[in-house]
Amino acid sequence: MTATPRIGVLALQGDVREHALALAEVGAEVARVRSAADLGSVEALVIPGGESTTMSKLALSNDLMEPLREARRAGMPMYGSCAGMIMLADRVTDARPDQETIGGIDITVRRNAFGRQVDSFESDLIVAGIGADPLHAVFIRAPWVESAGPEVEVLASVVSEVGAGTIVAVRQGPLLATSFHPELTGDLRIHRMFVEIVRHSR
Ligand code: GLN
Repeated sequence: MTATPRIGVLALQGDVREHALALAEVGAEVARVRSAADLGSVEALVIPGGESTTMSKLALSNDLMEPLREARRAGMPMYGSCAGMIMLADRVTDARPDQETIGGIDITVRRNAFGRQVDSFESDLIVAGIGADPLHAVFIRAPWVESAGPEVEVLASVVSEVGAGTIVAVRQGPLLATSFHPELTGDLRIHRMFVEIVRHSR
């Protein structure tokens, strides 16, 4: 395997371009993934923000849901932001009953959780593993993590008044998920962390 990680961005729906740019900036080779064949050509996958119900439906209609689950079970590193976090969650509340996920992270997420208080907001977070400087996080109709199993490492929780105390970044083995959108702020530390996870899982 080459030294440069080849990372796919699930390109069914959502802010694919922003993640592709962030990954390229941290030195990854980037490919857009729309089919099982595309998935077979990458060593890791980013699942962007967008709308998880639509993304899930498109994954099913493109015959991509099972290949995604197989790749995840085989140990492919995956990083999901916002809707992507929902896609990696084992359990989703406030979802349509037929909403399917790739799963893999032993968490229950609540869709649009902050939306009950405020649709979108920004907050500075301390994120484990990226250094002491706070990360400016942007939340857009974001999910939060309601509960996490024992294998899940909590990387960040909200400290500001909106949603104080709720978990918004987690890792379980090669799977990483954030409620917020680091691809929108120019702070590349989360993408860099993911590239490190990819290198270490080789
Ligand atoms: N609310 C969206 C969902 O449930 C996620 C929002 C986002 O990705 N910015 O899928």
